[in-house]
Amino acid sequence: MALIVQKYGGSSVADAEGIKRVAKRIVDTRRAGHDVVVAVSAMGDTTDELLDLAAQIAPIPAPRELDILLSAGERISMALLALAIHSMGYEARSYTGLQAGMVTDDRHGAARIVGVTPVRVRDALDEGAIVIVAGFQGFNPDTQDVTTLGRGGSDTTAVALASALDADVCEIYSDVDGIFTADPRVVPHARKLDAIGSEEMLELAANGAKVLYIRAVEFARRHGVLIHARSTFSSGPGTYVLSPGMTLPDTEGEAMEEPIVAGVATDLGQAKITIIGVPDVPGKAAEIFKIVAKSGANVDMIVQNVSAAATGRTDISFTLPKADATAALRALAAEQAEVGFESLVHDDQIGKLSVVGAGMRTHSGVSATLFEALSIAGINIEMISTSEIRISVVLRGDDLATAARVVHSAYGLDGEIEAVVHAGTGR
Ligand code: ASP
Ligand code: MG
Repeated sequence: MALIVQKYGGSSVADAEGIKRVAKRIVDTRRAGHDVVVAVSAMGDTTDELLDLAAQIAPIPAPRELDILLSAGERISMALLALAIHSMGYEARSYTGLQAGMVTDDRHGAARIVGVTPVRVRDALDEGAIVIVAGFQGFNPDTQDVTTLGRGGSDTTAVALASALDADVCEIYSDVDGIFTADPRVVPHARKLDAIGSEEMLELAANGAKVLYIRAVEFARRHGVLIHARSTFSSGPGTYVLSPGMTLPDTEGEAMEEPIVAGVATDLGQAKITIIGVPDVPGKAAEIFKIVAKSGANVDMIVQNVSAAATGRTDISFTLPKADATAALRALAAEQAEVGFESLVHDDQIGKLSVVGAGMRTHSGVSATLFEALSIAGINIEMISTSEIRISVVLRGDDLATAARVVHSAYGLDGEIEAVVHAGTGR
């Protein structure tokens, strides 16, 4: 008998039918003899709808009230799920984040979990009940207020519960079958992975893969929680996310071979800003990126050209999330005279492609394969950046899907058959 934590996303509990289907899965796990604790998201697009509603009433809603409002979404789904389980003849109890002992800091809308004291969860398990916990929420003991963890926070709730309860596995359910070598909507021949290292998963998630949330994977890596990402719509195995020292279950401790390339991530959510004619003297990059940082933008790639000898000026380009671009441009324009650059160019038609694999550390020539594949496809590279286990390139957004397909093939990642894509968002 194991203790299993399961997380169900909003798309899995979008309506009564979905809630009943999830309840059945939970009961099946219980029937197999396991203790089950469930973290559940708000139904469907509830969180977005509540945000819209708040925006209609107050242009800048008070963070405390907004958190109370948003936390209601998960309270609805947790109670309905408990009711569905009752009607199948099983005992279930739902708890809010506060009741489940999710202790966070006091940052409304982006709270961090600082500890979990799941006393009532343990008691309920001891009494034989299935436990349902509202995802995405906690409370701050100093203010005694309800907090939320930021969008997609239910994954983190589940992993934190799994860690605090010392669960055997944290199963994260969505409408996709697991982690793929690429987004199957972009690369039809993407393959589902049996396992992936948490470090590779973090790089993929940070570079556009949407199946798991970064903070949940980070938490799992830090606390040694085994994640199993799987689909609500099929009973087959999904993908295990392994932290250092873990091995794939049922393989008798056989170490996983480190793939040279685990997957290809694509991201259309970035924009590029180019600052033209920056005086090539010490301190200019510092000035510029201080201004950008103060605007709240999260800078990703940076490229500085060699300056033209005749002018003593250079161009600096950087990428950032599309949503941050306006604020960054405005902040830079306000300091144009001070910094002394000539002009700004904003480009929101870019795409970013990243190739990730832990085996890159020990293999050379990985980037050559990428550049070769793009060159054969006639696709121009605009920027390049690398980390120990990742190579990223910026391209025209229109080229991104083709690029992902040729690169996926070039690394031998293509599966025999086309991946099944269930309708939905992957959440
Ligand atoms: N309901 C929240 C959201 O939509 C949390 C979650 O789904 O994980 O972001
Ligand atoms: Mg949601």
